[in-house]
Amino acid sequence: MGSTTTSHHVDVAIIGGGITGLTLALGLQARNVRFTVYERAPSLKEIGAGVGFSPNAERAMELLNPDVHAAFKAVANANGEDYFQWVDGYATGQLIYKLYVGEGKFQGCRRSDFVEGLARKIPNDSIKYGKEVIEIRTGDDGRPIVVFKDGEEIVADIVIGADGIRSITRQQLLGPTNPASHPSYTHRCCFRALVPIPLASDAITLAGGDGAYSTSTRFMYNGPDGHIITYPVAGDTLLNILVVMTDYCDWKAKDGKMTARTTKAEAVEFFRDWKHPAVKAMVNELLPEVLDKWGVFDMMKDPAERYNEGCVVLAGDAAHAAGPHLGGGAGMGIEDALVLATALEAVDGKAEGEEKVRLCERALETYNQVRYERTQWLIKATREACALFHLKPPEVPNKQHNEMFGKEVSERFHTIWDGDVEGMVESTRKLLEAGQ
Ligand SMILES: Cc1cc2nc3c(=O)[nH]c(=O)nc-3n(C[C@H](O)[C@H](O)[C@H](O)COP(=O)(O)OP(=O)(O)OC[C@H]3O[C@@H](n4cnc5c(N)ncnc54)[C@H](O)[C@@H]3O)c2cc1C
Repeated sequence: MGSTTTSHHVDVAIIGGGITGLTLALGLQARNVRFTVYERAPSLKEIGAGVGFSPNAERAMELLNPDVHAAFKAVANANGEDYFQWVDGYATGQLIYKLYVGEGKFQGCRRSDFVEGLARKIPNDSIKYGKEVIEIRTGDDGRPIVVFKDGEEIVADIVIGADGIRSITRQQLLGPTNPASHPSYTHRCCFRALVPIPLASDAITLAGGDGAYSTSTRFMYNGPDGHIITYPVAGDTLLNILVVMTDYCDWKAKDGKMTARTTKAEAVEFFRDWKHPAVKAMVNELLPEVLDKWGVFDMMKDPAERYNEGCVVLAGDAAHAAGPHLGGGAGMGIEDALVLATALEAVDGKAEGEEKVRLCERALETYNQVRYERTQWLIKATREACALFHLKPPEVPNKQHNEMFGKEVSERFHTIWDGDVEGMVESTRKLLEAGQ
């Protein structure tokens, strides 16, 4: 990277070009803060899955950089109805609860469409692919040195680890043998698929359901020990399917791998007694014969006590990986990006040498202060929500259960959706002013 301790500019190294890393890059770009993204993969890759963004995430995108929001809106798929509907997928097929998501909100998209749209808005020389970080250490001047697998070393004023759930930055920050450096298995696993909507619709109708309606909007099918989420993406051409199952065994994949190749027979057996036609069609007909099973890991058991140390900081899943069940992880990464961009803009160009290092540390400390509580809450709330989603027959559905379900579910979603994004930006600025 270009700068030296005698420059007033803050040079930021972002490790990881996922949703957190790229939205952060665009936030810094909008604020004229210098950055480079280092991504391990040789190029952007398709993982064949959807992602949905909640209202808070959209507000954070707008404040971060209107280009981020435009990139999402260009690929976002409207839900047929502005509701999230939970249905008894096991026994009766009845509606359990219907939550208003806001007009045109909580839309999904194909993950790769969004990531590609973000990357297109960043100059080519600011994203370096095929750069795997293996070590981060502190130089004599207090600035971090990043070491890559190919032998290159760079010095930055600030290193932001947006390198996902198995973050090397977290291991470097907390120590590789510290339990907080590693995620743990939640005893849930999932299958993910994107299926052409005409195919999905026909299969559901053939199984006795309403294929057109089931594929037009956002649903969750609930039952004992499992649930299935579906929503349309890619201009209503594909149905995103996420099948979640409880697993009472330990995760067996070796070398910390979070996916394991298997066949759909596992899902067919798991959902054998579920009666809803959409569930039957998705599991028996629409999942591919051979596919990856994803272990759901999170940072609940051994959370990091803080996200920053010196001039190195964690963001997104690297800091606070949660399960997928509340659809809030990526949105939280974007909120992180907004606070980091705000804090770094405030210190950029203000000082050189030791004073610059002090200001950078203070900016990251402020980020930690503003973001820690909310992001740790998400991990816990996600586990609780997953437990709620797994019905315990024969007690459901009944009016009393459904009222409790609605209350518990809405509280958690609204805590995510109604997060005061503008207030967070304001607090960040005020805390930094007060500390200077
Ligand atoms: C099944 C499922 C469904 C989900 N659905 C939703 C949803 O609907 N809404 C929502 O908000 N969230 C959802 N989430 C959560 C969301 O996917 C994550 O929170 C989000 O993708 C995290 O983004 P990230 O950029 O922090 O990490 P990642 O997406 O993991 O990106 C990290 C990047 O860092 C790179 N990297 C890793 N190590 C290194 C290294 N050593 N050197 C250089 N680069 C490195 C990786 O290659 C990767 O590109 C879901 C999660 C799952 C599993």
